[in-house]
Amino acid sequence: MVNQPSMPINPNDILISFSLALYSQWFYHKPTRCLFDAGEGVATTLGSKVFGIRHVFLSHGHEDHIAGISNLVNIRNLASGERDKPLVIYYPKHDRWINAMLEYIERKQSGLLRYPLYAQPMEVGSEVEIPDAHRPTRVVAFEMRHVRGQLCLGYEIQQERKMPDPATGQNVCRYHPIFLYTGDGSEAVHTPYGRLDLAVFEATFMERDVNLASMESNRHSTLEKTIEWGAGQDVKSLILCHISDRYLLEDVIEAVSVIKQKTGFRGDLYIAHCNDIIPVDTTHSP
Ligand SMILES: [Zn+2]
Repeated sequence: MVNQPSMPINPNDILISFSLALYSQWFYHKPTRCLFDAGEGVATTLGSKVFGIRHVFLSHGHEDHIAGISNLVNIRNLASGERDKPLVIYYPKHDRWINAMLEYIERKQSGLLRYPLYAQPMEVGSEVEIPDAHRPTRVVAFEMRHVRGQLCLGYEIQQERKMPDPATGQNVCRYHPIFLYTGDGSEAVHTPYGRLDLAVFEATFMERDVNLASMESNRHSTLEKTIEWGAGQDVKSLILCHISDRYLLEDVIEAVSVIKQKTGFRGDLYIAHCNDIIPVDTTHSP
């Protein structure tokens, strides 16, 4: 059945995260052992779970997205755990701040690392196979418009599924988007490949500060723009993240409920606030 509804995912079952604009952002996707961004506090929060991480995908070189990476590399080397498993850091090619951070790590850890550490630059459309997953799985990079002249990447995890071909009705194998992540930026330059299971999308500002969101030098999304995107893509579950601390959480929740009604978004909505992923219950909205 092509349109058979599947059970919605509870993001709290598969993600551990922190998100607050300017301070820190990271999302750990447990089923694939992929960490998206590595803001301050990531290793402190994950503790021994850092040994589970195999792949780190960085969106861009701003502090709130990378400040935890050198500590993560070091703790994974020195704390008690499986210290021999490889770790790969993927990052936007030519990002000068990430290159500077990687150079620091390389010099600091030279001759000391017990595990293989790789750094792999990514471009728009770059694909990475995730070998340990229970089905063929890949991560594909796409562009986010954030800082002019600097590549900022979003990432999508796609997993092979058997599904009926709409034309023939025969079962075919194809990649299905199970998870999409954006760090910063206003527009996902992304071609949907099916109805996304779960998306983490930045929504730094409320509509009243749209002028801040649209600054050419540092573009961001708004709650409204992100939920409109989610409605357009018909995302099953959407997590709004990277929200500015200038807003009260209760005001954000109220605004999200109103925007959901207005846009007709039919999936589940969540707000990532610090370590919490909070469901927004819109059943009682006016
Ligand atoms: Zn940024």
